[in-house]
Amino acid sequence: MTFFTDLGLAEPIVRALDSRGYADPTPIQRQAIPALLEGRDLLGIAQTGTGKTAAFSLPSLHLLASDPKARKPASCRMLVLSPTRELAAQIADNMRGYAKYLSLSIQCVFGGVPVGKNARALVPGCDVLVATPGRLLDLIDQRALTLRDVEIFVLDEADQMMDLGFIVPLKRIAALLPKQRQSLFFSATMPQSIADLGKQFIHNPVRVEVAPQSTTAERVEQFATFLNQAEKQALLTLTLRSGLADNSIDRALIFTRTKHGADRVVRHLSSAGIGAAAIHGNKSQAQRTAALQGFRKGQIPVLVATDIAARGIDVAGVSHVFNFELPNVPEQYVHRIGRTARIGASGDAINFACEEYVYSLPEIEDFIGQKIPVLPITEDLLLEYKPPKRLERRRPLLSGGESRGRSRAPHHRRPVNRG
Ligand code: AMP
Repeated sequence: MTFFTDLGLAEPIVRALDSRGYADPTPIQRQAIPALLEGRDLLGIAQTGTGKTAAFSLPSLHLLASDPKARKPASCRMLVLSPTRELAAQIADNMRGYAKYLSLSIQCVFGGVPVGKNARALVPGCDVLVATPGRLLDLIDQRALTLRDVEIFVLDEADQMMDLGFIVPLKRIAALLPKQRQSLFFSATMPQSIADLGKQFIHNPVRVEVAPQSTTAERVEQFATFLNQAEKQALLTLTLRSGLADNSIDRALIFTRTKHGADRVVRHLSSAGIGAAAIHGNKSQAQRTAALQGFRKGQIPVLVATDIAARGIDVAGVSHVFNFELPNVPEQYVHRIGRTARIGASGDAINFACEEYVYSLPEIEDFIGQKIPVLPITEDLLLEYKPPKRLERRRPLLSGGESRGRSRAPHHRRPVNRG
């Protein structure tokens, strides 16, 4: 007997979980599943990496399977909205895995693939539809889909939905949903604006919060290195080269602010012989999928991403996140570093703070409620790209960093005996 059987989840679901090796629930699953099985609405404050996909999928699949209905054309019984294409694909993949011993049909639609292909897939109707908001509305406008049979509605990553300007599409979608339904609303952060948005979707919800708001993912060791823009690429290349060579870095995710910045970093790394691919909004869907798959399978050790493309992406074994540029908003920092230290693992987050963006750092520290230790550039690294005078210019930026800083191996190698 496991927790999942104790809850009374249908046997085929428990069997699918067994085959994935899930013995124990994660905290969000422990809190959310019983309430969802009772049909309650849910307000979930959780980052990705907490097991929230299973938390909303397992009880929903159970409810759908225990009340089988004939499929209606161009219709679905459960709708999951995701802000990005990659996250939508990932959710659908996970759900197909959890539902592999059930006869439920799970479809996924998002922009970047021909809308006609999506429309054809929806003709017979499906049980679960995972969608991005824009494409969902396109399909509704083309009369390829109706939401009138939705029984369970999940809005995932609500804060990113707002950041991406999906508020108007969301309101339109809300108006098309039946009043009588179960609604689940997830967000990594819950500022007032998101809570207000939530009120439009959920009624008398169970509130589940797995990490207090603004808490940085546990188990992520964070460091900041102060350097100028020109030094960043050199430090990144050297760090990755030595870390990948001695296996102290398994898989690294690099965040840049701009799409061009991401491409530039990939060009530099590739010319230094480091396998890297970029994922951002200017890439075609095929390129985005290939980059992500290569990274997932370990064929490409380095993925360079903008915030939009990388949100919610779950790739096991990301040992390092590099913020090549610090994010604009502190909340985004939490999401970025949450890409490492996924369930049961640890990870490092290394922040390149240069003059241009250094003022973001105190804001981030305020938000996460902790100081980020300074990781100085070591002498041997400096020798390799020879900017000795720069040390002097860097010092004023440290703002007391010497006292809180700690020294590490030249390429951020994890010391064996660190606590
Ligand atoms: P999510 O937060 O939904 O992106 O999930 C993060 C990762 O945790 C995914 O790779 C899941 O497959 C995995 N996961 C979810 N639930 C469990 C569990 N109970 N035990 C172990 N791994 C899990």
